[in-house]
Amino acid sequence: MLQNVLEFFRSLPKKECQSCGKTIDEQHECYGNTCDDCLQVYKG
Ligand SMILES: [Zn+2]
Repeated sequence: MLQNVLEFFRSLPKKECQSCGKTIDEQHECYGNTCDDCLQVYKG
């Protein structure tokens, strides 16, 4: 099962911001599913 999960993430093309749809760099994966722009909005 774990192997399937790893393959799933590897097969992902690129992450997209769930707020604006912008492609997110892999380095920002720790922030979740939002891009920098939307992240700043959330931070206020
Ligand atoms: Zn965004």
